Amino acid sequence: MKTPNSLLSATGTTIFTVMSALATRHNAINLGQGFPDTDGPDDVIQAAVDALRDGRHQYPPLTGVPELRQAVAAANARFYGLEVDPATEVVVTSGATEAITASLMALLDPGDEVVVIEPLYDTYLPVIRMLGAVPRIVRLSPPKWELPRAELAAAFGPKTKAILLNTPMNPTGKVFTAAELAFIAELLQRHDAYAVCDEVYEHLTFDGWRHIPLMTLPGMRDRCLRIGSAGKTFSLTGWKIGYVTAPAKLAALAAKAHQNLTFTTPPNLQRAVAVGLAKDDAYFAGLASGLAAKRDLLSAGLAAMGFGVLPAMGSYFVTADFAPLGFAGDDVAFCRHITEAAGVTAIPVSAFYEGEAPRHYARFAFCKREAVLEEALGRLAGCFGAGRGVRRAVGLAS
Ligand code: GLN
Repeated sequence: MKTPNSLLSATGTTIFTVMSALATRHNAINLGQGFPDTDGPDDVIQAAVDALRDGRHQYPPLTGVPELRQAVAAANARFYGLEVDPATEVVVTSGATEAITASLMALLDPGDEVVVIEPLYDTYLPVIRMLGAVPRIVRLSPPKWELPRAELAAAFGPKTKAILLNTPMNPTGKVFTAAELAFIAELLQRHDAYAVCDEVYEHLTFDGWRHIPLMTLPGMRDRCLRIGSAGKTFSLTGWKIGYVTAPAKLAALAAKAHQNLTFTTPPNLQRAVAVGLAKDDAYFAGLASGLAAKRDLLSAGLAAMGFGVLPAMGSYFVTADFAPLGFAGDDVAFCRHITEAAGVTAIPVSAFYEGEAPRHYARFAFCKREAVLEEALGRLAGCFGAGRGVRRAVGLAS
């Protein structure tokens, strides 16, 4: 028989699913796949319950229910000073995952080049290639994850149609600075290129770091498709509500992509997310400060055990160098080992790279209850023979 699609035939199951399955098999605490273990705000969930009970169960408008499009526009104004027309500049999708694909579809023709920054989220490369476009990969390296400006500039050329930028960044926890964004903006203008901005962690920044949408920089308003995710903003990752903010011309194209992917997204959940986006500033500040405390707990515990823990300014994740622990094996072996031997699961950072990659870092999700993080630290300390000293240092009963 003829080979079905060759790209998908060569694509493995996502590392997040693989590691979650392994965690389940070993009854491990899952600090791999990024999802919170407490659900989002009660009022948002109640709004979904109410919306399920008051009819409107048929296809909503293609680009999203008016309530949510208005709420996305209002959030753009409130958080970033962006004036957005809810009628023409917002498209609601089934998660940011669909929004990324729809935005790339809106921009790319076969043969176009897309600049991407590695380590990168696992849907980027397959989708770019499925569209017949060509990724130009620029690599950030641990421990500093600095943007290599000369390499970035060299990746742009006459065929560059777009950059796909993720800030705050998974898995590094990097938040791109105003200066880095200005550098990227200058390249986009020089090469007449667009940006797909994966900003799903926009509200999850710590220690005074502020997320800056590339779209807010001079000259960028008409070049960016900015993507958010209710999953991350409201700790409801299973809901799969994403939203694209873009100039009307690009939003219309993203809407056409959306009509061919899913067509519409459940109206009841959309209406609940609209309630969420209108929550007061204290909610958004509390979300970030709560996560920062969890990050601190996990980071301090891992560091006390001897991991080289890298700073995380945003997202759900810390990356940690396990080489100091003396483990003889790569990151895939390490993540399997701690799942099986300690009952704690993490994600190998090499999964976010294509080809050669650093192989001594693991990504740990800290979006978990503090008792769960403490239990995970205790298990790891036991596994690595870190003993009572470490257990005391991380605040655990010995
Ligand atoms: N974004 C989540 C992570 O990085 C996982 C989402 C997924 O499983 N596709 O862990």
